[in-house]
Amino acid sequence: MKLRTKFGAFGGIYIPEMMVAAMEDVEKAFIRCRKDRNFNNKLSGLLRDYAGRPSPLYLAENFSRDIGCKVYFKREDLLHTGAHKINNTLGQVMLAKQMGKKEIIAETGAGQHGVATAVVCALFGLSLKVFMGAKDIERQKPNVYRMQLCGAEVVPVTAGSQTLKDAVNAALRYFLGRVDTCYYVLGSVVGPHPYPMMVQHFQKVIGNEARRQILAREGRLPTHVIACVGGGSNAIGIFDAFLRDKVRLIGVEAGGNGKKHGKTLSQGEVGIFQGSKSYVLQNKDGQIEEAHSISAGLDYPGVGPVHSFLKESKRAMYTSATDKEALHAFHYLSRKEGIFPALESSHAIAFVLRNRKMFSSNDILLISLSGRGDKDINQVLSFGK
Ligand SMILES: *Cc1c(COP(=O)(O)O)cnc(C)c1O
Repeated sequence: MKLRTKFGAFGGIYIPEMMVAAMEDVEKAFIRCRKDRNFNNKLSGLLRDYAGRPSPLYLAENFSRDIGCKVYFKREDLLHTGAHKINNTLGQVMLAKQMGKKEIIAETGAGQHGVATAVVCALFGLSLKVFMGAKDIERQKPNVYRMQLCGAEVVPVTAGSQTLKDAVNAALRYFLGRVDTCYYVLGSVVGPHPYPMMVQHFQKVIGNEARRQILAREGRLPTHVIACVGGGSNAIGIFDAFLRDKVRLIGVEAGGNGKKHGKTLSQGEVGIFQGSKSYVLQNKDGQIEEAHSISAGLDYPGVGPVHSFLKESKRAMYTSATDKEALHAFHYLSRKEGIFPALESSHAIAFVLRNRKMFSSNDILLISLSGRGDKDINQVLSFGK
């Protein structure tokens, strides 16, 4: 085992020796591709013509009126497959192709990362297995069907809480036996190095675009940038461009239902989980606790090491919104703006609704609308209003 620290005291590579060489290969290939003009041109072309970038920056006037200052949405919900996930899967599947890998695997929680990987594997003619918790398969049927339509095999994971963390474990275990031929497309800024660094690189397009767009519209930067945090990829994706600016960065975790939650940064402790050192939800004996969220994408007891670093260095602040608040925010935005936010993104909106007194009329809020809520309609219906 080695420690390769990338984010202050966090990150590193805590995995079986057998996998370390495979991770080094991925790192080398990534560093080569990151500098390669052809790779970058092809990736930007696909981000534009296939995924639909740049995503629009939208001034939500009705919402702004209620909050008392300007609120902008970065519309990742309008991308192909309905969320920011495709930015990362295009990059990683192109990398796997470059590395000559024959089989692709991925894990998925809500199914969004699975679908985003499945469409890109269909595009490149690569075979794909997606590991998914049995409980999530039940919650997200349409996404399971979408993956299958693209020719992917969805592998149900019945271990543990049957959600995202168990799917990551199953994928890591499968990968361990096939490191030479297989490429693992990890869906967030978590896991062993180089994944946190690599996924951040592929997602920082969100903030780079938003920064340009808001400067063109307003002639100044936003005062607050707000995003929901599961593993933390959409959040660091939009934060990255503003790290050196005088802008408040706020991450909103899953506050859950009063019993269980996903408040990894606000209530977790530092530990080793799924290959890296970061905050994690664990009990006194160091056993990983089950997370809970109304949104499958935030139902995860770990968080990317970069967020642990930003929390400790106080560059970003982390808070939470409950299931109930997220559900209310979903209804609120549908009625006010005619936009169905993903239940994950609804947490960021809920934070703004709850804290409207915190903002003054001169503030400009930039919210990452990480995905669309169409996948959540049945679930929202089942809760009533
Ligand atoms: C997957 C997902 C998330 C959570 O993942 P992060 O890595 O924290 O961004 C948030 N929103 C949507 C719409 C998702 O699909």
